[in-house]
Formats: sequence, structure tokens, C-alpha cells
Amino acid sequence: MRLIPYPPGVIMGGEVIFKGRDLLAISEAEIRKIRGDEIAMVFQEPTTSLNPLFSIKTQLSESLILHRDMDKEGAAEESVKLLKQVGIPDAERRVNNYPHQFSGGMQQRIMIAMALTCNPDLLIADEPTTSVDVTVQAQLLDIIDRLRTEYGTAVIIITHNLGVIARYVDRVNVMYAGRLVESGETGALFAQPMHPYTMGLLSSVPRLDLPRKHELFVIGGQPPNLARIPPGCAFHPRCQFAIDRCRQEIPELEEITDGRHSACFRSRELPELVGK
Ligand code: SF4
Repeated sequence: MRLIPYPPGVIMGGEVIFKGRDLLAISEAEIRKIRGDEIAMVFQEPTTSLNPLFSIKTQLSESLILHRDMDKEGAAEESVKLLKQVGIPDAERRVNNYPHQFSGGMQQRIMIAMALTCNPDLLIADEPTTSVDVTVQAQLLDIIDRLRTEYGTAVIIITHNLGVIARYVDRVNVMYAGRLVESGETGALFAQPMHPYTMGLLSSVPRLDLPRKHELFVIGGQPPNLARIPPGCAFHPRCQFAIDRCRQEIPELEEITDGRHSACFRSRELPELVGK
């Protein structure tokens, strides 16, 4: 999205292909247009994303006037409609309120409404439910899921919550130390992980079907300092399956079986190793 100013931000390499265009190679004017019109974001902390000095109507209308060429009256009407779509009660009155007059969950609903003002092709939701309690989490994710179907918007959810992934996501990309280490369809990945880090994550989830005294699995060690990533496979200091090669070479992401990718030298042996 190129939201981090350069400098101090640096893009070391690679491509970000969106609808056939490399987002890293286009002009600032083009990326600004894509950001509003085609890709929208919902961040984890709505209080810092909403402007406390303007009413919700003003903030929603600004985007509608700018990106959808609406006049002031049309934008005001559409703002109420959007608030209703994300489940804000008494939307006609509440649209005139300011951010501090809403709870955290309601503010996040407003952020989702704001992201939808331009009817984007892609919605990136970065830990969208971190700041709210569990009941509200489910409501927000259900809203995103419903709008995904209604608007035909593709959604990328960035999350640490495996329960959210299991319930809402079709395809998972697992990241470790800034690199993609495993990718696959959700059901298949949960049933048989092909990277030791994914295996560790899934084993760390408390299970209701096991006895209460069952000890919870913990991945040993600490996540690496991103300024000093270990040589070879970044996961090797914590990996019970590490071999010499893992300390020297970085494993590439490769297809292991149909639609399943893993960046581990031992992915193909894992079922056998785990069984030992
Ligand atoms: S490459 Fe080696 S260290 Fe890295 S996850 Fe696979 S087995 Fe473990």
C-alpha cells in the first residue's frame, strides 16, 4: 500500500501485483487513486483512525464526495445507508455523532463502513477485532463476511487468532520473521500442516476435548529480533526438526502437494517425523 514514508521505510525487493499492475512500480498519484477506490483498509485501533474533531457524517461524506463524485446531500444519505449496513442502530441520528460517542466495537463498525464507501475490490483487515471483546469480535467478522458476499469484495484478514482463520478464511498464508513459510486451503492446512512453525501454532491452541490436566504445547524460544534474523531458516533455533542444512540455507517456498506450499527442507518427511 506504500503507506510508510520513504525514508525511513525501505522496500528491499519483490513485487506487489494487483489486477496485473505492480503497486511498487506505479506513480504516487496512481497508488493514491488505487488506495481509495480499489483497495481499502481497516486497522486494528479505530480510535486512532477516526478524526475526533469531525462528525461521522463529515468523515464518511468526505470519502464519498472525493471517490464517488457524490454531492453533499447524496453523500449524507449514503452515509446513513452505510451505517445501517454495518448494524449501527438509529443511524439517522447517530450519523451526526462524534467518534468519542461510540464504543470501540461501534467505532470499528464505522471503520468498516468507511472502507466500503468506495466499494473496493479488496479489503485488507489488519487485526480488525483486537481491541474489542469476544462477542463483538464475532459480530464484526460476521459483518465483514456478509459484506464480502454482498459487495463481491475480496478480503485479506491479518490475524494471530487461529479461531478466526478456521471460521472465516478460505486460504491461509503463514508468516514467520517476515517471510511466507506455508500456504494452503484452510481445511487442508489445519488437518495436516506442512511446516513445523504451523504445526507448533496449531498445537498451542487449547482444546476442549483433552483432559484438563493436559499440558499446553509451547513453541520453545523467542521470536527472532527482526533486525538480526538468524542465518539459514529463521525458525531453526526453535525447530525440533532442524538439521545442519537449516542453519546454512534459506528454504524457498515450494509446492509440496496440490495447492500446498511450504518453505521447509523437511516438509515431505514431516508426517513420518511426527509419527516417531
Ligand atoms: S527448514 Fe529446517 S529449521 Fe526450518 S522449519 Fe524446516 S526443519 Fe525446521
